[in-house]
Amino acid sequence: MAKRVNPMAVKANATYDVLEAARALNVTPATIRNWIKDGLEAMTSSKPYLILGSAIRTYLRAKYESARRPLKDDELFCPSCREGRKPLNLKVTQSQIATKTDLLKGVCHHCGGTATRMISHKQRPAFAEMFNITTGRNSEA
Ligand SMILES: [Zn+2]
Repeated sequence: MAKRVNPMAVKANATYDVLEAARALNVTPATIRNWIKDGLEAMTSSKPYLILGSAIRTYLRAKYESARRPLKDDELFCPSCREGRKPLNLKVTQSQIATKTDLLKGVCHHCGGTATRMISHKQRPAFAEMFNITTGRNSEA
C-alpha cells in the first residue's frame, strides 16, 4: 500500500509550487505532478504551477476516501486478504472491547485467517440476525 500523506501538512490558505508541496508533504515532486494529472487542482496557466493548500487537502481526502473499502453488512475485515470477507459458516465470536464497542471475530472463508469487525452495541441486533454469534466473556483488543 502506498504511504499515506497527512493532508494537514500543508496550510489551507498557502500556495505551493510543485517543489514546495513535495517538501511540505515529504513526497517526491513526481508524486505531486502525478496528482495534478490525476485531478489535483493546480493553477497551470503559468509556470511554476501553483497549488492551493486547501486543494491539496481536498484531493488527498477524496483519494483516501475512495481507497477505503467499505464492508458489506455480512462481512468482516480480513487483514490478510485486505478486504471484507464473509466469516466461515457465518460464525463469529463477539467480545466487548469498550463501553459501547464489540469486536466480532470470525474465520475468513477465503484464506482461513482471522477476520474482525468493530461494531457498536446498537448494531448488535442487526448482526445477530446475520451471523451465528457466540459471546466471548473475555475482552480482547
Ligand atoms: Zn482472508
